[in-house]
Amino acid sequence: MNNKKQNSALKVNEGIQQPPNINPYLKFKKKNKIQSPEFYVNGILEKDLSILSQAITIVESNLNEHRLIARSIIQKCLPLSGNSFRLGITGVPGVGKSTFIEYFGQLIIQNNRKVAVLAVDPSSERSKGSILGDKTRMESLSVNPNAFIRPSPSGCTLGGVARRTRETIILCEAAGFDFILVETVGVGQSETVVFNMVDMFLLLMLAGAGDELQGIKRGIMEMADIIAITKADGDNVLRCNLAANEYRNALKYLPLPESGWKPQVCTCSSTTGHGLNELYEIIQNYIKYTKTNKTFENRRKKQAKHWMYESMFDMLKENFLTNTNIKQLLKNYEEKVILNKINPIEAAEIILNRYYENFIKK
Ligand code: GDP
Repeated sequence: MNNKKQNSALKVNEGIQQPPNINPYLKFKKKNKIQSPEFYVNGILEKDLSILSQAITIVESNLNEHRLIARSIIQKCLPLSGNSFRLGITGVPGVGKSTFIEYFGQLIIQNNRKVAVLAVDPSSERSKGSILGDKTRMESLSVNPNAFIRPSPSGCTLGGVARRTRETIILCEAAGFDFILVETVGVGQSETVVFNMVDMFLLLMLAGAGDELQGIKRGIMEMADIIAITKADGDNVLRCNLAANEYRNALKYLPLPESGWKPQVCTCSSTTGHGLNELYEIIQNYIKYTKTNKTFENRRKKQAKHWMYESMFDMLKENFLTNTNIKQLLKNYEEKVILNKINPIEAAEIILNRYYENFIKK
């Protein structure tokens, strides 16, 4: 009888245990939990780059709860920052910025400094894709323990990017990075933003392409403390030397920067390494010159003042635009303005008055 049951076609053999639908290890891969400001500050002071990255992510966040933690981290890091040199680098796409930073960054490290590379990239706001600060463009530098590379924050206005980059500089400096490179594309407003947060400004230029072609405006030339003609290798050397002479002549007609420093022009090649040591030397001379005549310190003071105003205007704008009543009002008046039912200035006045009323009531 028993035997019969076992041979039955209806018998179901016991199968093997199936794995669960959800990976049980997933819980270990959860996003980093938000920690206390002290946790981040201690990590930064211990030069833990993973914690530095996490702290920067909080600084870049738009969430209110993150802003409070970010403010506290920055406040604690501020007294430990400032002991660095901040160099702004600009030039049109293709001029060789990332290749230059890849090699120049390593030269900085050979000189016993620690280098942080940050980017201010307005294109990331428009296209949601950053063309700067991508680690894959700086392969060797990105794996060097004395280097830290951070792409441009995205998803915010140029003002927002500027604030976040300034704050990131503070955190990097507190983590011991004493040579900060801030990269940007030299075609819009972003270089003015970078100019206002660095000690020196380096403009990279191509030989043989006119200023117009490179989209470089006179204003950017006026900001430059050094102009380096890139790709001075192979049969391009002669053209680079000619271009360098042209820029030296052109600079004679521009006003001297406030520091009194006479902007220098040089040629360099990331491929052969030509001119990189000379460029480092020029930077050292600049630091000595501006520290002696105190313009280094004065420039930082001016930038701090500028930063206060910028932050204030940013906060005002944010407060205005995130106010729910104002949001609705803006929507209504946008339509009226488009349909020509009211003129734009009158609409602006009405909206602002409503905002002031609201603000005063609070
Ligand atoms: P970016 O857009 O300004 O960051 O420019 P890249 O660093 O991406 O360089 C653009 C192109 O120029 C790449 O194909 C590089 O290989 C090339 N390049 C960069 N630096 C040099 C250089 O010093 N010499 C030569 N011959 N080519 C270079």
